[in-house]
Amino acid sequence: MVHAIRIHATGGPEVLRLDDIELAPPGPGEVRIRQRAMGLNFIDTYQRSGLYKLAALPAVLGMEGAGDVVALGEGVVDFSVGDRVAYGTELGGYAEERNVRADRIVPLPEAVSYETAAAMMLQGMTVRYLFRETFDVGPQTVMLFHAAAGGVGLIACQWAKALGATMIGTVGSPEKAALAQAHGCTHVIDYRTENFVERVRAITNGRGCDVVYDSIGRDTFPQSLDCLKPKGLWVSFGNASGPVPPFDLTQLKGSLFATRPSLMAYTATALQLRANAADLFAHVAAGRISIRVNQTYPLAEAERAHRDMEGRKTTGSSILVA
Ligand code: NDP
Repeated sequence: MVHAIRIHATGGPEVLRLDDIELAPPGPGEVRIRQRAMGLNFIDTYQRSGLYKLAALPAVLGMEGAGDVVALGEGVVDFSVGDRVAYGTELGGYAEERNVRADRIVPLPEAVSYETAAAMMLQGMTVRYLFRETFDVGPQTVMLFHAAAGGVGLIACQWAKALGATMIGTVGSPEKAALAQAHGCTHVIDYRTENFVERVRAITNGRGCDVVYDSIGRDTFPQSLDCLKPKGLWVSFGNASGPVPPFDLTQLKGSLFATRPSLMAYTATALQLRANAADLFAHVAAGRISIRVNQTYPLAEAERAHRDMEGRKTTGSSILVA
């Protein structure tokens, strides 16, 4: 039996339950991991609330973790018992031990701790695809990035700086503004007290941004579109305030482009997953990106962690430890 946080029905943070579950031996192509740290991500709250539908309930929440391989399923040749590994896109993370497909995990370099890995796999790989694939960010790029002091946000600040881009970040408090700036964000806007469209227009001398990365959804739509230059790209990659409502295509005035990307699609093959993770690990190893684990909770306190995330109390990354 292992401890795991499951939901038996969708709802508020109170539906998170600490259960003892029986874990089957790893199936063909799977490994069993004794987890040392597990990532907390905003997507976990969407799955818990029912905004994103899970295939079956009860379900162990969580997409991300790091630990040691303790058993191998049939046919696994890439990993051995004792290997340190991590993953970021596999449901079932909030547990002391779990089985996971070997082609969805990556070996963890010695220099990267379990805690850092559990905090960065999902959020770091997201920034990687957003900046290297969804849009080719470079020194000429001017971007607007919402929630710049969050988990994805603080990694984005550092990655944008490493690429030489101009990043305008929005945040929900003066403390978060200072944090984003300290991590390399060029201009910071407190969107709870300032009109971010007007500020972006002023900062860019009326030109607008090349790309807007919007993970807020309902509360920043359609204003985010007004921050773009003609033919600019709106990247709607999250719903922290609720989903973007259905809208008329004519709202993409100025020949704007829109995309709704997901990490799963960008790391669908083992090759894509490993290339993305290798780039992320290289930036972390070189010190260009440091992962801020600003909240650590015991596994049993996942409910408190969800309340903090949804209450906008967290900054940087959050993890659970078993
Ligand atoms: P964060 O740490 O960024 O937390 C979310 C932040 O959103 C909050 O801290 C808050 O920051 C801001 N926010 C604005 N409005 C609200 C609201 N009404 N309720 C709660 N929070 C609000 O989370 P993550 O780093 O885990 O994820 C960031 C976003 O990226 C999420 O929307 C997530 O779903 C998305 N994402 C998408 C992926 C994809 O591939 N599509 C992959 C990974 C993440 P502030 O107070 O500063 O406004």
